[in-house]
Amino acid sequence: MTSKKILRGQKLILWSSTWALLSAVAAEAFSALASSSSTAPTSVIVVGGGPIGLATAITLSRPPHSCQVTVLERQEGNGQALYDPTRSYLYNVNPRGLLWFDRHLKTTNYPNSTEIDDQLFLRLTQKGSATTQGMGNIMVVPADPNVPLPAPRPVTLGTGNVTVSMKRSYWIPRHQMVEILQEECHRHNVTLLHGKQFQSLSANETAVTVSCADGSEYTASLVVAADGYESPVREYLRQCNSQDWCAAPQWKVRRYLSPATGVKLKALQFPPNFTIPNGTESVVTDSEGIYVVRGTKDGSRTRLGLGFLPVKDPNLVRPANTNTRPDHLIWSIKDGPSMKQYFQENFPRFEWDNYVSEEEWERFSQAKGTSFPFCQYSTGAAVWSASGNAGVVLVGDACHAFPPDIGQGINAGLQDIVALDQSLRGEDINTRVVETSVQNSTPITAPTLSSALAAYRKNRVAEHRALIRLARFGAPYQYRQPWLRDRIGRFLWTLNVALRIMLSKLLPSICPPPAVLLTNQRPDLTFRQVMRRADTLTLVLQILVLQLLGLRLGLLKAKWLLSSWISTSAFYAASLLVRNTKKAA
Ligand SMILES: Cc1cc2nc3c(=O)[nH]c(=O)nc-3n(C[C@H](O)[C@H](O)[C@H](O)COP(=O)(O)OP(=O)(O)OC[C@H]3O[C@@H](n4cnc5c(N)ncnc54)[C@H](O)[C@@H]3O)c2cc1C
Repeated sequence: MTSKKILRGQKLILWSSTWALLSAVAAEAFSALASSSSTAPTSVIVVGGGPIGLATAITLSRPPHSCQVTVLERQEGNGQALYDPTRSYLYNVNPRGLLWFDRHLKTTNYPNSTEIDDQLFLRLTQKGSATTQGMGNIMVVPADPNVPLPAPRPVTLGTGNVTVSMKRSYWIPRHQMVEILQEECHRHNVTLLHGKQFQSLSANETAVTVSCADGSEYTASLVVAADGYESPVREYLRQCNSQDWCAAPQWKVRRYLSPATGVKLKALQFPPNFTIPNGTESVVTDSEGIYVVRGTKDGSRTRLGLGFLPVKDPNLVRPANTNTRPDHLIWSIKDGPSMKQYFQENFPRFEWDNYVSEEEWERFSQAKGTSFPFCQYSTGAAVWSASGNAGVVLVGDACHAFPPDIGQGINAGLQDIVALDQSLRGEDINTRVVETSVQNSTPITAPTLSSALAAYRKNRVAEHRALIRLARFGAPYQYRQPWLRDRIGRFLWTLNVALRIMLSKLLPSICPPPAVLLTNQRPDLTFRQVMRRADTLTLVLQILVLQLLGLRLGLLKAKWLLSSWISTSAFYAASLLVRNTKKAA
């Protein structure tokens, strides 16, 4: 390199570092200016009365925030959460989501509280089916009625090392989760308004006004968008052309196709405690057990299985989930008797007249079902006014959505609320997620709304990016999708997972288990930490495979191979060191 080039390079470095320094100083000055006049929110409007909207309303209505909170829900109703067969899925609230419950228990008179308010947690334990091992006990029911039923076995979600916390998780139907959260909202004087469909919003320096389709308007200093994966609020901000501070045309929704995207779900309603024929006898099902029923047909348009998840109440209807590609036969059958006939042929073990009424066959055949969404996240999660006195923030599916295969939808949403709560309190949002309560964290001086939302945005967008990578590669073939490309993909995915499980058993201190298992085994790790570990191992495996290929094709000599193996190992060791240092910190 000539001395001229070196000089030019040095100048460039000098300029860029000076520029970075100036920008940092300017940003600090601007944020100090904004902070000097701004205050914490006193009134909040939550758009969307799903589980995450309601849980956010509860958190913000309680000390230390003590805001006046109004929830605007599009669906009509008198505040009673009713069972809806089109949304009959169950949530598994695992340690990541339970962190929100843990914090909630201890916040009555934050920060000096010794009193524990466990009403909500009590309701979760009353309505939710607690698992004692991984995700509960599963029985896979063979299609052939002559094959005896196997004994149920625990789903342990991984190999060894299952932490005690994995033993805490609760299965709860969506409508019951909404119901217990609504009850808690009433206890904390949250105003719940139904039949309020968000239409638009406008903002000034100190407040945001939400307009609904019925012409009503509501004003608050903070608006929380918890309106699901199509999020009309998020889309409004993205498409807003005005000069308002809340316009966010730069936000993108990054969408990725997963093998589970587009899989369609609909559920056939089974009676409680239904029985499964087993030879000359019958086995009464346990309402808290998981059952997977295999069918006899295996064509790409005819293969169908049934899945039952645990419900605590033995008298509650049991939804039998069907997950199929949109070209499956069940979407072209439009009448009850034909649907029943298809089920009789596919599941000869069952005496169908004993389980399902003619009306239910009719309803099921007409039901349009719901499709699993893209794996998606929003590159923006909050906006605020220049004065820092008003803002809009996204939580839950509004900022990240994915098919339910990794079982983290509700949990990731509850983690958003913990992060929002922490940032509004001025706690360090970037500390590791551990099973602690707020009592262990020292409150810093209350931050301004703008700095709290800035911290939330920075932390969440990075976390959601990692979460979406996990959702794309974690367990996308669990619906036994029948297309040829699904079968090939499932085979390769199984090989990959088996290899990682083997490596993690052989070298437990170096090789992490597959990301989806690590997520469940180590709820104390953030999604970023999980994916960083998985990605490092992927990189090492890719380099090793390339090197072996190179050697095989004669492109590499043995001594090159040796030296590159040494450098790969050094790189891996260094990344482990960094990871462990961070862990120790
Ligand atoms: C087909 C499907 C199946 C799923 N299965 C599972 C599963 O088995 N297990 C699991 O854990 N997760 C599952 N999920 C994910 C899970 O539903 C979500 O992660 C979770 O419900 C997120 O809660 P939320 O409150 O953010 O959004 P939602 O539950 O979607 O709630 C959003 C709320 O906002 C309201 N709303 C929407 N638009 C407006 C508007 N304009 N004005 C006012 N209100 C509005 C809606 O009516 C709704 O009440 C599934 C998702 C889909 C799409």
